[in-house]
Amino acid sequence: MKAVVLHAPGEVRVEERPEPVPSAAEDAIVGVEATGVCGSDLHILHGRVPVDPGFTLGHEFVGTVLAAGEGVRTVAEGDRVLGCFCTACGDCFFCARGDFHKCDDGKVFGHGKTLGSLQGAQADQVLVPHADLTLRRVPDAMSSDAALFAGDVMGTGYHAIWAAGLEPGATAAILGLGPVGLCAVQAARARGAGRVIAIDSVEDRLKMAASFGATPLHLTEEDVRGSVKRLTDGRGADLTVDAVGHPEAFDLACRLTRKAGTVSVVGVYAERMEVHMAMVWLKSLTVHTGHANVIAHVDAVLDLMKEGKLDPRPLVTHHMNLEDAPEAYAVYDRREALKIVMAP
Ligand SMILES: [Zn+2]
Ligand SMILES: [Zn+2]
Repeated sequence: MKAVVLHAPGEVRVEERPEPVPSAAEDAIVGVEATGVCGSDLHILHGRVPVDPGFTLGHEFVGTVLAAGEGVRTVAEGDRVLGCFCTACGDCFFCARGDFHKCDDGKVFGHGKTLGSLQGAQADQVLVPHADLTLRRVPDAMSSDAALFAGDVMGTGYHAIWAAGLEPGATAAILGLGPVGLCAVQAARARGAGRVIAIDSVEDRLKMAASFGATPLHLTEEDVRGSVKRLTDGRGADLTVDAVGHPEAFDLACRLTRKAGTVSVVGVYAERMEVHMAMVWLKSLTVHTGHANVIAHVDAVLDLMKEGKLDPRPLVTHHMNLEDAPEAYAVYDRREALKIVMAP
């Protein structure tokens, strides 16, 4: 079968790989029909996340179950399914608490040795461990483009809002309007936010956020802190999402948030950095961080998508063939796309 592999830092290739074989009763094999290119794939491309050459990439997928082990209960051969970006065992201390994203045996598709050596989904087929937790049936009439988001990007947008406790009627500020930030805008609207303020420096992304019902603010051409104050009776946002993952973004998120408010960090941090702890402490901020618990959220996200309250389809800017993965990565790397969906 064909698979998109890291050849060397900076270079992906499409190569032939053996088809996956189930090894545990809870495993399933999915024939991939749509798979996304994601910001975290770029971290791998650029060598920030080390992955061995030849490892198959990709962690967003929709497809059909080709085989399911005896222990798989919730999906069956022939079902159209979507995958979460990670797996969880279902019975460790953390899974028992519902913290599936921190499972002791959790693995992330397509991220190499450091995250469980689980081959990725940018391939004709993918092996899915713990299929009952990792996979969901795609609701009838839901497109692959939409379903692809439920187990990763929209799940993360949802996490940024729901898990951080945004209250209906409250003001959310979303900093960084990449796919996750734009999904967080939709999630905040779906949660019933009184106002959603969307901040970025890319005009098209601000326009899209506005079309989702947000108040757009240009990061560099407007007085962001002054505007957020003005829009919130001088208080600041009740909750600010840092969907960037950069020390300056975190600092600004803390400044935009009102006293006793919440900063919700879904942007990725991989290094040590300085935090203005005196500001965090004096404002009594709650900082909510980490990977999204998508396995815990995926059913709620699918329900909201079915109701039309979340609709990620406008974020799909490109459809490409799996064979064109090197070009897809290059396009994404040049920031010319929001979401690229590839089909084997
Ligand atoms: Zn992703
Ligand atoms: Zn577990």
